[in-house]
Amino acid sequence: MDFKWGLRIAPDETYWDEGAGTNAHAAYEIFFGLFDPNAQRMLDSFNEFGYQRMEDELVELMNSKEYAGRSIAPKVPLKFARAIFVDGFPRMSHGTVAGFALPNWGPHAMAKKWIIGSMASPERREHFYRTYLGEEYVQYAVGGASTANTVTHEIFHGLGPQDETQVRDEHGQTKYLENGEPLTVRQALTPAVHQVLEEAKASFVYLWFDKKVEEAGIIDARTRKERNAAGVIWAFGHLLRELFNAEGKIKTYSAVGAMMLGSLMQEGAVSYNEQRGAWDIDFDRVPDVAGEMLRRITRIQATGDREAGQALIDSYTKDAELLKLIRYEDIVKRARDAKIRPTVGRYQVIIDE
Ligand SMILES: [Zn+2]
Repeated sequence: MDFKWGLRIAPDETYWDEGAGTNAHAAYEIFFGLFDPNAQRMLDSFNEFGYQRMEDELVELMNSKEYAGRSIAPKVPLKFARAIFVDGFPRMSHGTVAGFALPNWGPHAMAKKWIIGSMASPERREHFYRTYLGEEYVQYAVGGASTANTVTHEIFHGLGPQDETQVRDEHGQTKYLENGEPLTVRQALTPAVHQVLEEAKASFVYLWFDKKVEEAGIIDARTRKERNAAGVIWAFGHLLRELFNAEGKIKTYSAVGAMMLGSLMQEGAVSYNEQRGAWDIDFDRVPDVAGEMLRRITRIQATGDREAGQALIDSYTKDAELLKLIRYEDIVKRARDAKIRPTVGRYQVIIDE
């Protein structure tokens, strides 16, 4: 697909994120953008790695009888456009990711996919890093890092266990519903648990996967650190919106943020530095800790273990000790004090055949 300008009017990712199970995809979104060759160079690293290899790496990490992996369509080139005009009912957030477009799962997931990532101004981005990670980490606040994470996130929605994957038991045998149809991950987990775990899978994945890209010699160590820092900042970006909405329902991405920062802090990959009054990142530990959580999440998905999924989510969102460990109150308060507002300006990524 060759283009300079891109125009799309469609009912893409337009749901109102008011908690799990309330998605309403009946709205539409207008996107108008211009091809961006600079950003395209960054995206080529994903094409170079290859989608089948991404799936294979994930299967190897899972090391599970319940998910054997599958063959992924041949290489699909990514295209990158800079958003000039976006209107309609797109999903807006206070974090670094504004939304993306459907279809993002199912058998056609890798065939055609549009992705929108937000782009904060450099000043705003640096202000955000300074607020939570301190002056020492502003050097990692580069444009493109969070967009690379968004792209990884969207690609992996189409890989590993997902919505329509059939649940298998410990012997690798398909499980069936009473009507004889195969039981899918979404059915087994229930939409509420599935939504959080699917977003958690796609978010933990980049903290782990970027190390693979580095080891493959496609990006350097510095770039991997920038992407990992952007990933950690993403967790803050959603936690500052608070965990529960006015009706007491858990917010999907904030829950993922709590799982991310919580697990990284439990394992010492992120810690709070009292002296600096900011959070520290141990870049050597981030990929392994994220990989371990990714293994837990994807295995729960593959086995359709709803109870284990709910317990995992609760342990990071309802446990007072954990919330104290990540300094949840402090995170929310700093956003208010530092007047951190929603980001503006967006990129659109297009994957097409
Ligand atoms: Zn997602």
